[in-house]
Amino acid sequence: MNNQNEIRVRMAPSPTGFFHVGSARTALFNWLFAKHHKGKFILRVEDTDVERSSEEMIKVVLNGMAWLGMDRYEGPYYQSKRMDFYKKYVDKLIKDGKAYYCYCNPQDLAGERKAAYANKQDWKYDRRCLSLNAADKKKKEESNTPKAVRFLVPEHRVTYKDIVYGEISRDSKDIEDFVIQRANGMPTYNLACVVDDHDMGISHVIRGADHITNTPKQILLYEALNLQKPEFAHLPLILGQDKSKLSKRHDAVSLDEYKEKGFLSDAMVNYLALLSWSPGDNNEDFMDRKKPENLGTVDMVRLAKEFTLERVNKANAIFDVTKLEWMNQQYIHQLNHDKFQELLKPFIIKYGLMTEKTLIRDHQRYVEICNLMQPRLKTLDEINNQGRYFFKDDFDYDQTALQKFTNKETLTIMKTFLVVIQDINPFEVMNIEMTLLNFGKDHGLKVKQWIHPLRVFTTGSTGGPPLFDTLELIGKEQCIYRIEKILKQKQEK
Ligand code: GLU
Repeated sequence: MNNQNEIRVRMAPSPTGFFHVGSARTALFNWLFAKHHKGKFILRVEDTDVERSSEEMIKVVLNGMAWLGMDRYEGPYYQSKRMDFYKKYVDKLIKDGKAYYCYCNPQDLAGERKAAYANKQDWKYDRRCLSLNAADKKKKEESNTPKAVRFLVPEHRVTYKDIVYGEISRDSKDIEDFVIQRANGMPTYNLACVVDDHDMGISHVIRGADHITNTPKQILLYEALNLQKPEFAHLPLILGQDKSKLSKRHDAVSLDEYKEKGFLSDAMVNYLALLSWSPGDNNEDFMDRKKPENLGTVDMVRLAKEFTLERVNKANAIFDVTKLEWMNQQYIHQLNHDKFQELLKPFIIKYGLMTEKTLIRDHQRYVEICNLMQPRLKTLDEINNQGRYFFKDDFDYDQTALQKFTNKETLTIMKTFLVVIQDINPFEVMNIEMTLLNFGKDHGLKVKQWIHPLRVFTTGSTGGPPLFDTLELIGKEQCIYRIEKILKQKQEK
């Protein structure tokens, strides 16, 4: 804990080009923990690997945080701008005899390691540079041999209490003298992380369980530098449905992909919060229901109030896209209509269903389509597959259904309905409904004999919003055109 007993947590992404949903979950848990304790949430960009970092990549993370509603934080701090700072700590360790220069060529060492592993042998750096005599050292220096700095790992068992996993213990004999500063002067992750966590007064390090192996190394560094250690809480991994670590082999792993598919950030937050955490009452629904206009948004205040690290469970979480879709549908359905219309617009434009101009010109029609589709979409992106027929006539037909409804008898029925539809004026829902129902009844037809084929002919599919509303919005001309098109195609065969 830092001196002021203030809760200070951090999210420390390495810019990798995309924002992994696992990192988003880590960010969220840190954020909720900070809010719960009225503490601070700090963003630190771990960009010491200059070759792999770029402005663009950093933006991906910052945008992702903003999208999820976590846009207020201290920072961002950039490790790349704090190089001199790390060097001071490295120099101190060297001066205290707790670190030493290593002149070995990293490629040679990698080769040795590989060969040992190939023979099923363990390999650990043998401290050969620690025992270099003065003359050898001088020679290396004079020939400008690149040198890294290695931490001289002291021998003892490192034990700490992880808030999630309980006591974790590791013998330092298994840890080699790891590099803390590369030959190019850059600090490595473990060194920079310890120095920064200390400098930024971090009280709790909350991060993915994939870092459990780093923690003993970091504790050894805290001890060597005589710095106060933070508390540690490692978060269980997120696995794909096949129980292997969630990776690109599975569905989308980057937050941006979910955004592009039309998941609402609020549903995403609700879903991510439940990955290895559950509230006391097991009520997983965190939709804000305090006021009608809040529906479809997530109640961050309640989430933060209920969030404790003690309720994070040790079991790895499964990323279940079907559950996420279900949750997203609940959020979409409840969303304020105006908000839904706004959020859907980019997808309407992306698929060329309407343009900026027609969205203004045909605003009322757009609103009516939105009202029909809002309860049906699992993602906003589905508007193209599920509602394309409202806007375009190049939608796909359910071929099995088309086959089923284009037998001779049905074609004859549809031909008569075509004539009836041509005479419906005005072409409005009540009128359409009354006219078609009456016509069917008068001609001794069961509703199912004409309603299903009529839907398939005009929309290509067997399901969707109420048919008569749909027909009105498709418009009389288009309905006629579509029915005639199928009749012509099938009669020609
Ligand atoms: N840069 C590390 C990562 O992205 C941070 C790990 C940590 O939180 O200490 O995994």
